[in-house]
Amino acid sequence: EMFGQLTSGLESAWNKLKGEEVLTKENIVEPMRDIRRALLEADVSLPVVRRFVQSVSDQAVGVGLIRGVKPDQQLVKIVHDELVKLMGGEVSEMVFAKSAPTVILLAGLQGVGKTTVCAKLANYLKKQGKSCMLIAGDVYRPAAIDQLVILGEQVGVPVYTEGTDVKPSEIARKGLSEAKKKNIDVVIVDTAGRLQIDKGMMDELKDVKRILNPTEVLLVVDAMTGQEAAALVTTFNLEIGITGAILTKLDGDSRGGAALSVKEVSGKPIKLVGRGERMEDLEPFYPNRMAGRILGMGDVLSFVEKAQEVMRQEDAEELQKKIMSANFDFNDFLKQTRAVAKMGSMTRVIGMIPGMAKVTPAQVREAEKNLKMMEAMIEEMTPEEREKPELLAESPERRKRVAQASGKTEQQVSQLVAQLFQMRVRMKNLMGVMEGGSIPSLSN
Ligand code: GDP
Repeated sequence: EMFGQLTSGLESAWNKLKGEEVLTKENIVEPMRDIRRALLEADVSLPVVRRFVQSVSDQAVGVGLIRGVKPDQQLVKIVHDELVKLMGGEVSEMVFAKSAPTVILLAGLQGVGKTTVCAKLANYLKKQGKSCMLIAGDVYRPAAIDQLVILGEQVGVPVYTEGTDVKPSEIARKGLSEAKKKNIDVVIVDTAGRLQIDKGMMDELKDVKRILNPTEVLLVVDAMTGQEAAALVTTFNLEIGITGAILTKLDGDSRGGAALSVKEVSGKPIKLVGRGERMEDLEPFYPNRMAGRILGMGDVLSFVEKAQEVMRQEDAEELQKKIMSANFDFNDFLKQTRAVAKMGSMTRVIGMIPGMAKVTPAQVREAEKNLKMMEAMIEEMTPEEREKPELLAESPERRKRVAQASGKTEQQVSQLVAQLFQMRVRMKNLMGVMEGGSIPSLSN
């Protein structure tokens, strides 16, 4: 699971506060040490970790006792808010030029996923109703141009190429004038990557940038490279001036260092994240959802948003309301699993299902089988049982009937019922933390 190690590292911090009545200078020493260690192991840069830990400690000791809120919850809330702040607070929107075309210049080292991002971004903007054109400026790797042409075709966006014999700045100039002729809304320019930073690449990027006068200059960085990614963003920003970063390969087992360090180290926000190899796998970077995920609570909001794409709007809103009120029942469960099935890639969505956040990609097939099994059992429940899972919890006879009808064991039915209740608890906790719902705001 994404950031799994960081998540469990932080969990050990909360666990040390179980049974405590208040947060004190003394009893946060151990938890803060865990937090520090978890962040360093996640490859967050040291100065960032120091500031983070200091700020969390200062707030933790100052909060005092709040009725009904346990010290470990208080600390979760403080860490959550501080993580959000660290990642830039608000989502950092893409900027579009007042008069078309908007030019987006993409830079990045080789292999980070830049070419893929070009096409993903075009696909993403196309879905928002914008016409796009790609310009193939990576003249050092003929394969990169071919790849861009193929991906362009795949997402239905024209690709402007001049082969490899023309200077990138010249390709950019011609491509841009072509885009103007065609009334294209957004032009996305691929540039040459190198294995590492060198002067030739920077000079070329400066040239291209001068000619295009782009609205966005985005550096594509690989999440697997941790704090190195943050250092790259800093360097590129100092050298050519960029407007933000795109973080790729967040679906892999990256440790979190990049997502947590980029903004704080470079001053530039992460605007988009890539979470898979498919063209759909690009989305805005939401600091507060990311914080929710890091805290290991699944990602209800992303899930609901995804679900909205396949469910009718009212259904999705209803589901969201249910989730918030923690009255989630087996009907919702069924809707959710069916929506997931429709969404296709289980790998991508599985971590978003509350209560399943611990499932790793390796276990996905298993999970898919489980979902089928759950569905079979739910289908044998009466409408009343689906709405009131308590009925099943209280009655062995009912569980037996469902087990027999669905061809499962009674234990499997019991597990399913227990799981639903667990999900309710998790969702309630999650909403409490994310919405400040059941946990009062801790500022002043
Ligand atoms: P470039 O050299 O920067 O242009 O990199 P490419 O776009 O050719 O991508 C390099 C490899 O990374 C390819 O195999 C891509 O499929 C893969 N890749 C790109 N983005 C992602 C991502 O978000 N997740 C995963 N898992 N793979 C990605």
